[in-house]
Amino acid sequence: MHELSIMEGALAMALEQAQQAGASRLHVIRLRIGALSGVVPEALQFAFEALSSGTIAEGGQLAIEPVPARFWCEPCRREFQADDLLSACPDCGTPSRDLRAGRELELASLEIE
Ligand SMILES: [Zn+2]
Repeated sequence: MHELSIMEGALAMALEQAQQAGASRLHVIRLRIGALSGVVPEALQFAFEALSSGTIAEGGQLAIEPVPARFWCEPCRREFQADDLLSACPDCGTPSRDLRAGRELELASLEIE
C-alpha cells in the first residue's frame, strides 16, 4: 500500500500547517498528483478516510488536482502533452524522454477554519 504512506506524509504535513495557522477544522486538503506519479487516486481517498479519523481533518475532503504529463520536444522546441512514458511528439514524431511535468505529488492548498 504505497498510497497509505504517501497519504500519511501528506496528512502529517497538512495537519502541521493547519495547527500553525491555529485551525480547529481542516475541511479540504488539495493534492497535486501527476499523471505519471504512479498513485491511484481512489486508494488515496481510502487512505485519507482511514488516517484522518480522530484528527481535525476527520469528515473533511481530499481533493485531487491531476497534472497531465508533459514532455519537451527538442526538434520542435516546445512541450507536448502525453499519457505515458512512451511518448512521441504529435508534430514531428520524435520520441521524448524529457519529462517536464507529470510526476508531481505535492500539497497544493488547504481549507481550514
Ligand atoms: Zn516535435
